[in-house]
Amino acid sequence: MAFISENLAVNERGHLTIGGVDVMTLKEKYGTPLYVMDEDLIRQNLRTYRDALNTHYNGNGLCQFASKAFCTKYMCKIVAEEGLGLDVVSGGELYTALSAGFPAEKICFHGNNKTKEELTFAIGHDVGTIVVDHQYELTQIDAIAESMGKIQNVIFRVKPGIDAHTHDFIMTGQIDSKFGFALETGEALSAVGLVKDKKNLCYKGLHCHIGSQIFDVEPFRETAKVMMNFIKEIKEQFNLETEELDLGGGFGIRYVESDDPIPCDKYIEAVSLEVKEQAQKLSVAVPRILMEPGRSIVAPAGLTVYEVGCVKEIPGIRTYVSVDGGMADNPRYIMYGAEYTAVLANKADQNAEYTYTVAGKCCESGDVLIERAKLPEVAVGDTLCVLATGAYNYSMASNYNRIPRPAVVMVSNGADKLVVKRETYEDLIKNDL
Ligand SMILES: *Cc1c(COP(=O)(O)O)cnc(C)c1O
Repeated sequence: MAFISENLAVNERGHLTIGGVDVMTLKEKYGTPLYVMDEDLIRQNLRTYRDALNTHYNGNGLCQFASKAFCTKYMCKIVAEEGLGLDVVSGGELYTALSAGFPAEKICFHGNNKTKEELTFAIGHDVGTIVVDHQYELTQIDAIAESMGKIQNVIFRVKPGIDAHTHDFIMTGQIDSKFGFALETGEALSAVGLVKDKKNLCYKGLHCHIGSQIFDVEPFRETAKVMMNFIKEIKEQFNLETEELDLGGGFGIRYVESDDPIPCDKYIEAVSLEVKEQAQKLSVAVPRILMEPGRSIVAPAGLTVYEVGCVKEIPGIRTYVSVDGGMADNPRYIMYGAEYTAVLANKADQNAEYTYTVAGKCCESGDVLIERAKLPEVAVGDTLCVLATGAYNYSMASNYNRIPRPAVVMVSNGADKLVVKRETYEDLIKNDL
Protein backbone atom coordinates (compact mmCIF):
# COMPACT_ATOMS: atom_id res chain seq x y z
CA MET A 1 0.00 0.00 0.00
CA ALA A 2 1.25 3.49 -0.87
CA PHE A 3 1.48 6.12 1.82
CA ILE A 4 1.67 9.85 1.40
CA SER A 5 4.98 10.00 3.25
CA GLU A 6 7.93 7.63 2.89
CA ASN A 7 8.59 7.30 6.61
CA LEU A 8 5.34 5.35 6.99
CA ALA A 9 5.06 1.60 6.47
CA VAL A 10 3.18 -1.52 7.53
CA ASN A 11 4.87 -4.12 9.74
CA GLU A 12 4.36 -7.89 9.86
CA ARG A 13 1.47 -7.48 12.30
CA GLY A 14 -0.38 -5.31 9.81
CA HIS A 15 0.20 -2.22 11.92
CA LEU A 16 1.17 1.23 10.75
CA THR A 17 4.72 2.26 11.59
CA ILE A 18 6.27 5.71 11.64
CA GLY A 19 10.05 5.96 11.47
CA GLY A 20 10.05 2.19 12.00
CA VAL A 21 8.07 2.38 15.28
CA ASP A 22 4.73 0.55 15.64
CA VAL A 23 1.98 3.13 16.18
CA MET A 24 0.00 0.58 18.23
CA THR A 25 2.87 0.34 20.71
CA LEU A 26 2.92 4.12 21.06
CA LYS A 27 -0.83 4.15 21.58
CA GLU A 28 -0.52 1.59 24.35
CA LYS A 29 2.29 3.47 26.03
CA TYR A 30 1.02 7.04 25.79
CA GLY A 31 -2.75 6.84 25.15
CA THR A 32 -4.78 8.86 22.66
CA PRO A 33 -5.13 11.35 21.17
CA LEU A 34 -1.41 11.56 20.58
CA TYR A 35 0.83 13.57 18.30
CA VAL A 36 3.72 11.51 16.97
CA MET A 37 6.62 13.16 15.16
CA ASP A 38 9.48 11.52 13.29
CA GLU A 39 12.59 13.30 14.52
CA ASP A 40 14.82 11.72 11.89
CA LEU A 41 12.63 13.05 9.09
CA ILE A 42 12.55 16.52 10.66
CA ARG A 43 16.36 16.54 10.82
CA GLN A 44 16.59 15.25 7.27
CA ASN A 45 14.32 18.04 6.05
CA LEU A 46 16.31 20.68 7.93
CA ARG A 47 19.51 19.34 6.38
CA THR A 48 18.02 19.33 2.90
CA TYR A 49 17.34 23.05 3.16
CA ARG A 50 20.74 23.75 4.66
CA ASP A 51 22.56 21.71 2.01
CA ALA A 52 20.53 23.24 -0.81
CA LEU A 53 21.72 26.71 0.16
CA ASN A 54 25.28 25.40 0.21
CA THR A 55 24.94 23.74 -3.17
CA HIS A 56 23.06 26.45 -5.02
CA TYR A 57 24.10 29.62 -3.23
CA ASN A 58 27.59 28.93 -1.85
CA GLY A 59 26.14 28.74 1.63
CA ASN A 60 25.56 32.49 1.53
CA GLY A 61 22.26 32.18 3.31
CA LEU A 62 20.33 30.74 6.18
CA CYS A 63 17.13 28.76 6.51
CA GLN A 64 15.12 29.80 9.51
CA PHE A 65 12.48 27.39 10.71
CA ALA A 66 9.11 29.19 11.04
CA SER A 67 8.46 28.13 14.60
CA LYS A 68 4.74 28.91 14.45
CA ALA A 69 4.35 25.62 12.55
CA PHE A 70 5.50 23.64 15.60
CA CYS A 71 6.94 25.48 18.55
CA THR A 72 8.23 23.50 21.50
CA LYS A 73 11.52 23.58 23.37
CA TYR A 74 12.56 20.23 21.93
CA MET A 75 11.95 21.38 18.36
CA CYS A 76 13.95 24.56 18.98
CA LYS A 77 16.83 22.38 20.20
CA ILE A 78 16.71 20.24 17.06
CA VAL A 79 16.80 23.34 14.86
CA ALA A 80 19.75 24.74 16.84
CA GLU A 81 21.63 21.45 16.60
CA GLU A 82 21.17 21.37 12.84
CA GLY A 83 22.56 24.90 12.60
CA LEU A 84 19.49 26.63 11.19
CA GLY A 85 17.87 29.88 12.31
CA LEU A 86 14.44 30.43 13.80
CA ASP A 87 11.50 32.70 13.08
CA VAL A 88 9.27 33.77 15.91
CA VAL A 89 6.12 35.85 15.78
CA SER A 90 5.33 36.47 19.42
CA GLY A 91 6.85 36.90 22.84
CA GLY A 92 5.71 33.39 23.67
CA GLU A 93 7.53 31.79 20.75
CA LEU A 94 10.59 33.87 21.55
CA TYR A 95 10.42 32.81 25.19
CA THR A 96 10.18 29.15 24.14
CA ALA A 97 13.23 29.50 21.90
CA LEU A 98 15.33 31.29 24.51
CA SER A 99 14.27 28.74 27.16
CA ALA A 100 15.57 26.03 24.85
CA GLY A 101 18.91 27.85 24.67
CA PHE A 102 18.41 28.87 21.05
CA PRO A 103 21.11 31.38 19.99
CA ALA A 104 19.42 34.80 19.97
CA GLU A 105 21.48 36.08 17.06
CA LYS A 106 19.89 33.46 14.81
CA ILE A 107 16.34 34.48 15.73
CA CYS A 108 14.22 36.66 13.49
CA PHE A 109 11.19 38.36 15.06
CA HIS A 110 8.12 38.87 12.85
CA GLY A 111 4.60 40.08 13.32
CA ASN A 112 2.25 42.83 12.19
CA ASN A 113 1.51 44.04 15.71
CA LYS A 114 4.32 43.28 18.10
CA THR A 115 3.60 44.91 21.42
CA LYS A 116 5.98 47.27 23.16
CA GLU A 117 6.58 44.57 25.78
CA GLU A 118 7.44 42.01 23.10
CA LEU A 119 9.82 44.39 21.34
CA THR A 120 11.47 45.30 24.62
CA PHE A 121 11.85 41.61 25.46
CA ALA A 122 13.33 40.87 22.03
CA ILE A 123 15.76 43.79 21.93
CA GLY A 124 16.74 43.17 25.55
CA HIS A 125 17.71 39.61 24.62
CA ASP A 126 19.69 40.67 21.53
CA VAL A 127 17.46 39.03 18.96
CA GLY A 128 19.33 38.94 15.65
CA THR A 129 16.80 40.63 13.42
CA ILE A 130 13.46 42.33 13.78
CA VAL A 131 11.18 42.49 10.77
CA VAL A 132 9.65 45.96 10.63
CA ASP A 133 6.03 45.80 9.60
CA HIS A 134 4.84 49.41 9.78
CA GLN A 135 6.17 52.93 10.20
CA TYR A 136 5.24 53.44 13.81
CA GLU A 137 7.12 50.27 14.66
CA LEU A 138 10.28 51.68 13.13
CA THR A 139 10.17 54.60 15.54
CA GLN A 140 9.30 52.30 18.41
CA ILE A 141 12.18 49.86 17.81
CA ASP A 142 14.60 52.75 17.49
CA ALA A 143 13.41 54.29 20.76
CA ILE A 144 13.56 51.01 22.69
CA ALA A 145 17.03 50.22 21.31
CA GLU A 146 18.17 53.73 22.24
CA SER A 147 16.89 53.36 25.80
CA MET A 148 18.96 50.19 26.12
CA GLY A 149 22.00 51.57 24.34
CA LYS A 150 21.77 48.99 21.58
CA ILE A 151 21.84 48.93 17.81
CA GLN A 152 19.12 46.69 16.40
CA ASN A 153 19.32 44.99 13.02
CA VAL A 154 16.11 45.41 11.05
CA ILE A 155 14.69 44.19 7.77
CA PHE A 156 11.49 45.51 6.18
CA ARG A 157 8.49 43.41 5.34
CA VAL A 158 7.38 44.13 1.81
CA LYS A 159 4.21 43.12 -0.01
CA PRO A 160 5.60 42.26 -3.42
CA GLY A 161 2.14 42.02 -5.01
CA ILE A 162 2.43 38.39 -6.05
CA ASP A 163 -0.59 36.18 -6.53
CA ALA A 164 0.55 32.87 -5.08
CA HIS A 165 -2.37 30.76 -6.38
CA THR A 166 -3.26 29.47 -2.96
CA HIS A 167 -6.11 29.69 -0.49
CA ASP A 168 -7.25 33.28 0.17
CA PHE A 169 -6.74 32.95 3.88
CA ILE A 170 -3.09 32.13 3.50
CA MET A 171 -2.21 34.52 0.69
CA THR A 172 -0.18 37.36 2.09
CA GLY A 173 1.89 38.89 -0.70
CA GLN A 174 -0.90 40.97 -2.25
CA ILE A 175 -1.65 44.61 -1.53
CA ASP A 176 -4.75 43.87 0.58
CA SER A 177 -2.83 42.19 3.37
CA LYS A 178 -2.36 43.24 6.96
CA PHE A 179 1.36 42.43 6.72
CA GLY A 180 4.04 44.87 5.69
CA PHE A 181 4.59 47.78 3.33
CA ALA A 182 3.18 47.91 -0.19
CA LEU A 183 5.62 48.13 -3.04
CA GLU A 184 3.49 49.58 -5.81
CA THR A 185 2.29 52.59 -3.82
CA GLY A 186 5.79 53.68 -2.87
CA GLU A 187 5.04 52.98 0.79
CA ALA A 188 7.87 50.48 1.11
CA LEU A 189 10.44 52.79 -0.48
CA SER A 190 9.64 55.74 1.76
CA ALA A 191 9.67 53.50 4.85
CA VAL A 192 13.15 52.20 4.02
CA GLY A 193 14.26 55.80 3.46
CA LEU A 194 13.42 56.64 7.06
CA VAL A 195 15.93 54.16 8.44
CA LYS A 196 18.90 56.42 7.68
CA ASP A 197 17.86 58.87 10.38
CA LYS A 198 17.39 56.23 13.04
CA LYS A 199 20.57 56.12 15.08
CA ASN A 200 19.82 52.87 16.85
CA LEU A 201 18.74 50.86 13.83
CA CYS A 202 20.92 49.05 11.35
CA TYR A 203 19.33 48.43 7.95
CA LYS A 204 20.02 44.87 6.85
CA GLY A 205 17.48 44.22 4.15
CA LEU A 206 14.08 43.11 3.03
CA HIS A 207 11.59 40.41 3.78
CA CYS A 208 8.56 39.04 2.01
CA HIS A 209 6.34 36.00 2.33
CA ILE A 210 3.83 35.32 -0.40
CA GLY A 211 1.65 32.61 1.10
CA SER A 212 1.55 29.00 2.16
CA GLN A 213 1.09 25.50 0.73
CA ILE A 214 2.42 26.66 -2.67
CA PHE A 215 3.29 23.94 -5.20
CA ASP A 216 5.05 25.99 -7.80
CA VAL A 217 8.51 27.60 -7.95
CA GLU A 218 7.28 30.31 -10.32
CA PRO A 219 5.72 32.66 -7.71
CA PHE A 220 8.98 32.47 -5.72
CA ARG A 221 11.10 33.22 -8.75
CA GLU A 222 8.83 36.10 -9.66
CA THR A 223 9.03 37.42 -6.10
CA ALA A 224 12.82 37.21 -6.08
CA LYS A 225 12.88 39.26 -9.26
CA VAL A 226 10.55 41.92 -7.91
CA MET A 227 12.56 42.16 -4.69
CA MET A 228 15.90 42.43 -6.52
CA ASN A 229 14.49 45.31 -8.55
CA PHE A 230 13.45 46.95 -5.32
CA ILE A 231 16.95 46.46 -3.92
CA LYS A 232 18.29 48.38 -6.89
CA GLU A 233 15.77 51.15 -6.36
CA ILE A 234 16.80 51.45 -2.71
CA LYS A 235 20.42 51.71 -3.70
CA GLU A 236 19.72 54.38 -6.30
CA GLN A 237 17.46 56.44 -4.08
CA PHE A 238 19.27 56.25 -0.76
CA ASN A 239 22.66 54.73 -1.53
CA LEU A 240 21.80 51.93 0.91
CA GLU A 241 23.21 48.43 0.48
CA THR A 242 20.77 45.57 1.03
CA GLU A 243 22.72 42.72 2.56
CA GLU A 244 19.86 40.35 3.27
CA LEU A 245 16.90 39.18 1.25
CA ASP A 246 14.44 37.05 3.16
CA LEU A 247 12.09 35.28 0.74
CA GLY A 248 9.82 33.68 3.34
CA GLY A 249 8.39 30.19 3.40
CA GLY A 250 5.25 28.58 2.07
CA PHE A 251 6.43 25.44 0.25
CA GLY A 252 3.64 22.92 -0.19
CA ILE A 253 3.48 19.37 1.16
CA ARG A 254 1.38 16.30 0.43
CA TYR A 255 -1.74 16.02 2.56
CA VAL A 256 -3.68 13.83 0.14
CA GLU A 257 -2.66 11.54 -2.69
CA SER A 258 -3.41 14.16 -5.35
CA ASP A 259 -1.07 16.78 -3.86
CA ASP A 260 2.10 16.92 -5.88
CA PRO A 261 4.83 18.73 -3.97
CA ILE A 262 8.21 19.63 -5.42
CA PRO A 263 11.35 18.58 -3.51
CA CYS A 264 12.17 21.54 -1.29
CA ASP A 265 15.68 22.03 -2.64
CA LYS A 266 14.09 22.89 -6.00
CA TYR A 267 12.68 26.09 -4.50
CA ILE A 268 16.09 27.02 -3.16
CA GLU A 269 17.67 26.25 -6.50
CA ALA A 270 15.14 28.37 -8.38
CA VAL A 271 15.39 31.43 -6.16
CA SER A 272 19.17 31.14 -5.93
CA LEU A 273 19.47 31.21 -9.70
CA GLU A 274 17.04 34.08 -10.04
CA VAL A 275 18.70 36.22 -7.37
CA LYS A 276 22.17 35.70 -8.85
CA GLU A 277 20.92 36.42 -12.35
CA GLN A 278 19.13 39.59 -11.30
CA ALA A 279 22.10 40.79 -9.26
CA GLN A 280 24.24 40.59 -12.35
CA LYS A 281 21.66 42.13 -14.62
CA LEU A 282 20.92 45.02 -12.27
CA SER A 283 24.53 45.47 -11.10
CA VAL A 284 23.74 45.15 -7.43
CA ALA A 285 25.59 43.06 -4.85
CA VAL A 286 24.39 39.48 -4.37
CA PRO A 287 22.47 39.53 -1.09
CA ARG A 288 22.53 36.85 1.57
CA ILE A 289 19.35 34.78 1.15
CA LEU A 290 17.12 33.87 4.05
CA MET A 291 14.32 31.34 3.75
CA GLU A 292 11.61 30.55 6.29
CA PRO A 293 10.07 27.15 5.72
CA GLY A 294 7.72 25.87 8.42
CA ARG A 295 5.18 23.39 7.15
CA SER A 296 7.50 21.56 4.74
CA ILE A 297 9.91 20.73 7.57
CA VAL A 298 7.49 19.34 10.13
CA ALA A 299 4.12 18.53 8.54
CA PRO A 300 5.11 15.28 6.77
CA ALA A 301 6.94 14.13 9.91
CA GLY A 302 3.85 14.07 12.11
CA LEU A 303 0.66 12.12 12.56
CA THR A 304 -2.10 12.14 15.14
CA VAL A 305 -3.29 8.92 16.74
CA TYR A 306 -6.93 8.65 17.85
CA GLU A 307 -9.23 5.93 19.06
CA VAL A 308 -12.58 5.41 17.37
CA GLY A 309 -15.38 5.68 19.93
CA CYS A 310 -18.45 5.59 17.74
CA VAL A 311 -19.51 4.59 14.23
CA LYS A 312 -22.85 6.12 13.23
CA GLU A 313 -24.48 5.26 9.94
CA ILE A 314 -27.08 7.66 8.55
CA PRO A 315 -28.62 5.45 5.83
CA GLY A 316 -28.34 6.89 2.34
CA ILE A 317 -26.36 9.89 3.60
CA ARG A 318 -23.04 9.09 5.27
CA THR A 319 -21.38 7.21 8.08
CA TYR A 320 -19.69 9.18 10.82
CA VAL A 321 -16.66 7.78 12.58
CA SER A 322 -16.08 9.76 15.76
CA VAL A 323 -12.64 9.91 17.34
CA ASP A 324 -11.45 11.05 20.77
CA GLY A 325 -9.98 14.33 19.48
CA GLY A 326 -10.98 16.77 16.74
CA MET A 327 -10.94 20.53 16.17
CA ALA A 328 -9.27 21.13 19.55
CA ASP A 329 -6.12 19.32 18.40
CA ASN A 330 -6.53 20.01 14.67
CA PRO A 331 -8.58 23.10 13.74
CA ARG A 332 -7.41 23.18 10.14
CA TYR A 333 -10.49 21.60 8.59
CA ILE A 334 -12.86 23.93 10.38
CA MET A 335 -10.64 26.95 9.60
CA TYR A 336 -9.65 26.29 5.99
CA GLY A 337 -11.44 23.16 4.88
CA ALA A 338 -7.98 21.56 4.92
CA GLU A 339 -7.78 18.04 3.52
CA TYR A 340 -6.14 15.08 5.21
CA THR A 341 -5.57 11.36 4.74
CA ALA A 342 -6.43 8.78 7.41
CA VAL A 343 -5.15 5.26 8.04
CA LEU A 344 -6.34 2.65 10.54
CA ALA A 345 -3.14 1.81 12.39
CA ASN A 346 -4.41 -1.60 13.50
CA LYS A 347 -5.67 -2.50 10.00
CA ALA A 348 -2.99 -0.84 7.91
CA ASP A 349 -2.66 -3.89 5.67
CA GLN A 350 -6.35 -3.87 4.70
CA ASN A 351 -7.81 -2.20 1.63
CA ALA A 352 -9.44 1.18 2.09
CA GLU A 353 -12.77 0.27 0.51
CA TYR A 354 -15.20 2.35 2.52
CA THR A 355 -15.88 6.06 2.74
CA TYR A 356 -16.45 7.71 6.10
CA THR A 357 -16.69 11.16 7.57
CA VAL A 358 -14.20 11.38 10.40
CA ALA A 359 -15.62 13.63 13.11
CA GLY A 360 -14.22 14.93 16.37
CA LYS A 361 -15.77 14.97 19.81
CA CYS A 362 -16.33 18.72 20.16
CA CYS A 363 -19.73 20.30 20.49
CA GLU A 364 -19.83 21.73 16.95
CA SER A 365 -21.36 20.15 13.86
CA GLY A 366 -18.40 21.53 11.93
CA ASP A 367 -15.96 19.57 14.06
CA VAL A 368 -14.81 17.30 11.27
CA LEU A 369 -11.30 16.09 10.52
CA ILE A 370 -11.91 14.50 7.12
CA GLU A 371 -15.03 14.82 5.00
CA ARG A 372 -14.54 11.74 2.82
CA ALA A 373 -11.93 9.41 4.28
CA LYS A 374 -11.18 6.13 2.51
CA LEU A 375 -10.72 3.42 5.13
CA PRO A 376 -11.16 -0.31 5.68
CA GLU A 377 -14.36 -1.18 7.55
CA VAL A 378 -14.16 0.73 10.84
CA ALA A 379 -15.15 -0.69 14.23
CA VAL A 380 -15.29 0.91 17.67
CA GLY A 381 -11.87 0.65 19.31
CA ASP A 382 -9.92 0.94 16.06
CA THR A 383 -6.90 3.22 16.00
CA LEU A 384 -7.31 5.97 13.46
CA CYS A 385 -4.34 8.06 12.39
CA VAL A 386 -4.58 11.35 10.57
CA LEU A 387 -1.39 11.82 8.55
CA ALA A 388 0.81 14.87 7.92
CA THR A 389 -0.31 16.70 11.05
CA GLY A 390 3.17 17.80 12.12
CA ALA A 391 2.58 21.47 11.25
CA TYR A 392 -0.09 23.81 12.55
CA ASN A 393 -1.77 21.14 14.64
CA TYR A 394 -0.08 21.13 18.03
CA SER A 395 0.73 24.81 17.56
CA MET A 396 -2.90 25.68 16.80
CA ALA A 397 -4.44 23.36 19.38
CA SER A 398 -6.86 24.79 21.92
CA ASN A 399 -8.64 23.69 25.05
CA TYR A 400 -12.07 24.13 23.49
CA ASN A 401 -14.65 22.15 25.44
CA ARG A 402 -11.96 21.99 28.11
CA ILE A 403 -10.22 19.19 26.33
CA PRO A 404 -6.61 18.76 27.49
CA ARG A 405 -4.03 19.07 24.71
CA PRO A 406 -2.48 15.73 23.66
CA ALA A 407 1.08 14.74 24.38
CA VAL A 408 3.79 14.93 21.69
CA VAL A 409 6.10 11.96 21.21
CA MET A 410 9.15 11.95 18.93
CA VAL A 411 10.48 8.78 17.39
CA SER A 412 14.08 8.46 16.32
CA ASN A 413 16.21 5.46 15.47
CA GLY A 414 13.44 3.08 16.46
CA ALA A 415 13.04 4.63 19.94
CA ASP A 416 10.36 6.95 21.28
CA LYS A 417 10.69 9.99 23.52
CA LEU A 418 8.02 12.11 25.20
CA VAL A 419 8.71 15.76 24.35
CA VAL A 420 5.48 17.42 25.49
CA LYS A 421 3.42 15.98 28.33
CA ARG A 422 -0.31 15.44 27.96
CA GLU A 423 -2.24 18.19 29.71
CA THR A 424 -4.21 17.24 32.77
CA TYR A 425 -7.56 18.48 34.10
CA GLU A 426 -5.52 20.29 36.74
CA ASP A 427 -3.66 22.16 33.95
CA LEU A 428 -7.01 23.27 32.59
CA ILE A 429 -8.00 25.10 35.76
CA LYS A 430 -4.59 26.32 36.86
CA ASN A 431 -5.34 29.96 36.02
CA ASP A 432 -8.96 29.92 37.18
CA LEU A 433 -9.50 32.04 40.31
C1 LIG B 1 3.74 31.31 8.04
C2 LIG B 1 4.98 31.97 7.65
C3 LIG B 1 6.08 31.21 7.28
C4 LIG B 1 6.05 29.71 7.12
O1 LIG B 1 5.13 29.28 6.19
P1 LIG B 1 5.04 27.71 5.82
O2 LIG B 1 3.91 27.64 4.89
O3 LIG B 1 4.76 27.00 7.10
O4 LIG B 1 6.33 27.32 5.22
C5 LIG B 1 7.26 31.87 7.00
N1 LIG B 1 7.35 33.22 7.11
C6 LIG B 1 6.30 33.97 7.48
C7 LIG B 1 6.47 35.43 7.58
C8 LIG B 1 5.09 33.39 7.75
O5 LIG B 1 4.06 34.15 8.10
